[in-house]
Amino acid sequence: MSEGAAKKEEKPRKFQAIRGTRDLLPPETALWNHVEQTAHQVFGTFGFGEIRLPIFEPTELFARAVGGETDIVSKEMYTFTDGPSSIPEKPDPHALGEYLRAADEEFGKGEIPNTSANRLAIDQLKAKFEEFRQASMKMPLGAFVVESEEAFDKYQKEWNEATVLASRISRGNVLTLRPEATASVCRAYIEHGMQQLPQPVKLYYMGPMFRRERPQKGRYRQFYQIGAEVLGGSDAPAIDAEVIEMVMTVFDRLELQGVQLDINSIGDKNCRPKYVELLRAELLKVKDKLGPDSQRRIETNPLRVLDSKLESEQGIIAKLPRIADHLCEECAAHYAAVKHQLEMRGVIYRENWRLVRGLDYYMRTTFEITAKGLGSQNAVCGGGRYDGLVELLGGPPTKGIGFAIGEDRLILSLQESGKGEVATGRDVYIAWMGERAHATAIRAAKDLRKAGFSVELPPVEQKFGKALGQADKLGAKYALILGDNEVSEGLWTLKTLADGSQAKYTEPDLLEYLHKQKAR
Ligand code: ATP
Ligand code: MG
Repeated sequence: MSEGAAKKEEKPRKFQAIRGTRDLLPPETALWNHVEQTAHQVFGTFGFGEIRLPIFEPTELFARAVGGETDIVSKEMYTFTDGPSSIPEKPDPHALGEYLRAADEEFGKGEIPNTSANRLAIDQLKAKFEEFRQASMKMPLGAFVVESEEAFDKYQKEWNEATVLASRISRGNVLTLRPEATASVCRAYIEHGMQQLPQPVKLYYMGPMFRRERPQKGRYRQFYQIGAEVLGGSDAPAIDAEVIEMVMTVFDRLELQGVQLDINSIGDKNCRPKYVELLRAELLKVKDKLGPDSQRRIETNPLRVLDSKLESEQGIIAKLPRIADHLCEECAAHYAAVKHQLEMRGVIYRENWRLVRGLDYYMRTTFEITAKGLGSQNAVCGGGRYDGLVELLGGPPTKGIGFAIGEDRLILSLQESGKGEVATGRDVYIAWMGERAHATAIRAAKDLRKAGFSVELPPVEQKFGKALGQADKLGAKYALILGDNEVSEGLWTLKTLADGSQAKYTEPDLLEYLHKQKAR
């Protein structure tokens, strides 16, 4: 069988969404929109403005901000090299000249990174080629063959050196699909000189994030976050409390069920390191009784041991020293004031001394919000203060606090507790018959849509019986019946599909009636 014939017989491949990603479809997307609209509204009332960020950033941004030892950076990021297609991944030793020409050109255009390492490699490679050129000019015509073994060895050596130089050119930036957005917001704050604006700057975002985790209920590889950040100005405890109040307001508006806010303070660079050392020392004493994950974390990140869900470790963890008892004076005062500020706002919280977060940048106030119906993935929001982050990314010393809501889990929880219903479906299905009626139907659809009603206008004529059946299937509330009689009388028939009742209206009366019904 020829190759062509084999191709023809092959069944076309069925494509499926990549593991851990999913399509969000109507009618569920109406709930997503409702959640996002609620967030837009509530955040607006707290004076936050929306920031829209790139989906990918230099890998280094996340490595630096989130921290190299965290799960996110060490194993969950989607990273790739973004280089121009004219430059192959690896230089072909037999085509170095071509490689150099392309690299030089792309370097000039800024398509490959303008770094000093790249500049140096390209310059050295150019110099090498200039040597080759000079040498070959000295040779008698056609004598490139090999004059002597020594000359050949020398030539071979030089060429190898050129290959090494070529491989030093990094053809592109190493990029990562964002696993979270706080780092990007801080990057943008610095890049746009936002410290010049009135402080603090209050920003929010929403959109997809990417982490290569094991997919399960409430855990995806592409998931969605709605988050907000307050950058600059002071670290007044009222800011922490107001940010928490804001996210609780969103959950309240959405009638999210079983909401519980946990808070903690994890200290700052004065007191945390001392506590971490104490914790490490205590953990070493009980090392044998801990599981392998926690044993490893004694070295890498002892705070994370507190996060352990392992049944066998709970008794041990309960006896460990608590950070609240080891906060420095400033951190203790800050924490007490945050709690007081929450109380003034009527925000109910639970202190959870074991609450630590998986990202390096957090300090002082940390919080997590859980909700009903989510099993073990029950955190719908995580947040905290990160005063050193902007500076760590090369900006001025800047206070910061923020949170990220897991929108997928929020939606799941709303659905599980029966709060996920959002009215969809058509308001009016227009059943028309006849040419004149069609013209009237088109005009009626336009007017009704302008008034904000969702209208289905069938593209071809159907018998009224069939049309009403369709209207039912689509869940329309009303059918507007337009036949020749209705058009010539100027009286339109409106059928209420729930109870089958019908009545006749003039055009303006009909609009008024529908408006009244909608307002009820
Ligand atoms: P978890 O402990 O559940 O993995 P996290 O500490 O990694 O959460 P953050 O990085 O603080 O989470 O992100 C904030 C919120 O984003 C989480 O509370 C959760 O609701 C949501 N989230 C995080 N990772 C995922 C994911 N893979 N799929 C769906 N939602 C997620
Ligand atoms: Mg996680």
